[in-house]
Amino acid sequence: MSTDPTENDAGQHCPLCGADNHCAIAAGKNAIQCWCMRTEFPQTLIERVPAEAKNRVCICERCVQQALIGVSE
Ligand SMILES: [Zn+2]
Repeated sequence: MSTDPTENDAGQHCPLCGADNHCAIAAGKNAIQCWCMRTEFPQTLIERVPAEAKNRVCICERCVQQALIGVSE
């Protein structure tokens, strides 16, 4: 069986900056274990995620932290 590395990789990178998002779901672990379950995502940040990536690809922790402290503007 062949696995497509690009497709496999797609869920593991932040849709905003392309960095590794350390998503537990993408890594095949339980969503409960994901850091994002304990993190608040600002609505303004979620709105910047491309529609096709929404609810499918995790934003990375760094982007969330930057949005929370208001660096992005
Ligand atoms: Zn990011």
